[in-house]
Amino acid sequence: MSLSSLSVSELRGKLRSRELSPVEALDALESRITEVDPKIRGYISRDYAAARAQAENADVNLPLGGVPIAIKDVINVNGEPCSCGSKILEGYTANYDATVITRLRAAGAIPFGRCNMDEFAMGSSTENSAFTRSCNPWDLSRVPGGSSGGSAAVVAANEAYAAFGSDTGGSIRQPAALCSCVGLKPTYGRVSRFGLVAFASSLDQIGPFTKTVEDAALLLNVISGHDPLDSTSLNEPVPDYTSLLGRDLRGIRLGMPKEYFISGIDPRVDAAVRTAIRQYQSLGAEIVDVSLPNTEHAVGVYYIIATAEASANLARFDGVRYGYRATGGNLLEMYGSTRAEGFGPEVKRRIILGTYVLSSGYYDAYYLRAQKVRTLIRRDFTQAFEKVDAIVCPTSPEPAFKAGERADDPLRMYLADIFTIACNLAGTCGISIPCGFAEEEGKKLPIGLQLIGQPFREAQLLQIAHAYEQSTDWHKAQPPL
Ligand code: GLN
Repeated sequence: MSLSSLSVSELRGKLRSRELSPVEALDALESRITEVDPKIRGYISRDYAAARAQAENADVNLPLGGVPIAIKDVINVNGEPCSCGSKILEGYTANYDATVITRLRAAGAIPFGRCNMDEFAMGSSTENSAFTRSCNPWDLSRVPGGSSGGSAAVVAANEAYAAFGSDTGGSIRQPAALCSCVGLKPTYGRVSRFGLVAFASSLDQIGPFTKTVEDAALLLNVISGHDPLDSTSLNEPVPDYTSLLGRDLRGIRLGMPKEYFISGIDPRVDAAVRTAIRQYQSLGAEIVDVSLPNTEHAVGVYYIIATAEASANLARFDGVRYGYRATGGNLLEMYGSTRAEGFGPEVKRRIILGTYVLSSGYYDAYYLRAQKVRTLIRRDFTQAFEKVDAIVCPTSPEPAFKAGERADDPLRMYLADIFTIACNLAGTCGISIPCGFAEEEGKKLPIGLQLIGQPFREAQLLQIAHAYEQSTDWHKAQPPL
């Protein structure tokens, strides 16, 4: 096993004991990237010189001292490109650090590498990137999921010790499931969104991709907390997220929502998740049937609210302030052709849909009604959490699909997030952890288990995830690269 397959916690141990230097940790990554990234294409850019300068001066006694971490190309890192997977921001260089990056740097971490993504985080396969298609490390002919597909793929392929992504409707949990790593979406307001390029502001959260649950806790420790620069970040206390790891599950109640075990779900996913639930029982957790009755409306509500917010957020890309500018014509024509040439088809589709649902005459019928149903979805979770500590269900209804298979069928693509979207609408936290494989064409295709926790109870969510992880070997499996 190469050095680059170390977890953050293992790497930190070796750095602190001086068994390994930060520059060696970075070089191990760089050589692994050279070896496998031509196949995976998880990175769209890397600044080795900048990272090396930081590695040379790293203080390994800090919480993440000397640990390189890959960043989805939607989070601003000062001096690095921030393209959001879009032609409209090709060549744009960030001139400040997102709060998450400021906190990572203060903890000694080194942002290294920009991960590929669906354009402006819209998609479930990373095929909407304007630059390249990323591949699933378990089967290169399949997608890594999305929109943070690059972040998931580089962690699964051991081209990163850990990575960050963003999750608006599943973009951390779904690719983590399809690539076999841990993906955590924190509670809305837990992590500052300052410096995250906005897709749907009421849903977006930044979170980690890691090889272990413990690593997710370590990274959440560093990035959490109130930020005066983000008025939606909350002033809740930040516990030590590792503090409950290792506690047993006696007294823990897990809810099995009947709406998440439906026909149409891949039988191999259904079987793996049910086996995981039996494992939870044997670990001492009590399994309780719960109902989230408004689940069937989640995808519809999401594609009204998320597109409405996106249509407003993406208005700023007009050729004047950032990135690409089309030439010729008067000012109005320049706006129009910049956006026509700069945005890809999925982004345009969403801007048109979002503008439509916000237009007078349709606002009440679509946007306002979607907001009301969102309240009902949130209430479903509040009621379920009166009975259980967390909800357990599949992350994705099926394993990774073949590249190209859905690219021309947006509605089918939207259904990839059927199990992850409600968690964002409710604003609570969720995690995906590896729970098995489906065999197909001689390849092993990862399956993810999703746990949805109570708002701001990430410590307990991580405890529950960790207990399962430690009782199985799924997280140790390595892709055949
Ligand atoms: N796949 C969903 C979408 O296309 C979710 C994306 C996300 O979470 N950023 O909108």
